[in-house]
Amino acid sequence: MTTAVLEKLAKQIAKRKIRVVDLTQTLKPSTAVIQLPPAFAQSSPFSISQISRYDDKGPAWYWNNISCGEHTGTHFDAPIHWVSGKDYQDGATDTIDVQRFVAPACVIDCSKEAAKDEKFLLTPKHILAWEKKHGKIPKGSWVLMRTDWSKRTDPSAFLNMKEDGPHVPGPNVDAMRFLTQERDVNGWGVEAVGTDAGQAHSFEPAFPAHNLMHGANRFGLASLCNLDQLPATGAVIFAAPLKIEQGSGSPLRVLALVDER
Ligand code: MN
Repeated sequence: MTTAVLEKLAKQIAKRKIRVVDLTQTLKPSTAVIQLPPAFAQSSPFSISQISRYDDKGPAWYWNNISCGEHTGTHFDAPIHWVSGKDYQDGATDTIDVQRFVAPACVIDCSKEAAKDEKFLLTPKHILAWEKKHGKIPKGSWVLMRTDWSKRTDPSAFLNMKEDGPHVPGPNVDAMRFLTQERDVNGWGVEAVGTDAGQAHSFEPAFPAHNLMHGANRFGLASLCNLDQLPATGAVIFAAPLKIEQGSGSPLRVLALVDER
């Protein structure tokens, strides 16, 4: 291959014929963090403290210290995040093949269903109906579930915790089995705080987006936004986590390239 493709790509981006869409929520102290039952250890929220801001502590520079759990805000789930993926040598943030951080995306619009039913579950039936319209999900794709859940800017409405656990849409077990086994996807992404449905603790197996995706050495993306700006097919996603040694995931900036023609 010549350099023509990349040259053309760079030109199209500069001319905004190819648009860069930000799929990332702003990371801030109020960013909602997943809540586990009290028996388990909890992830820390995002915190930020100023080191200096053009003042006595640093007259010409501004910078902050930050801290948070790996799974905070818009973030990447690596295969070793789950016990089912713990033995993948190439399954940590620092060992994943970087080629897999750039991949096409299929966006399944479930926004109407999620508006009607906060516990909406995506099944293989929905995926096959989507494929009938848009074609077969290509091998190595991200499959992203659009729910418009990211438009819930109030953290408690975003987590939507009820007495029986969170009421949040997500995939059922068969959907995760289908996408890993039948479609060989790169990973699974959602707008909610985690990749699994709110009630996925009661599924068999529990938390299939974690258990099955990571068990098959696939990735997760959580707390995405702006999925309503993506076409059903044709976008290319850049999603590279921080290179944390043996990291289980990290906050990241997720960008999509979208052809405007
Ligand atoms: Mn996570």
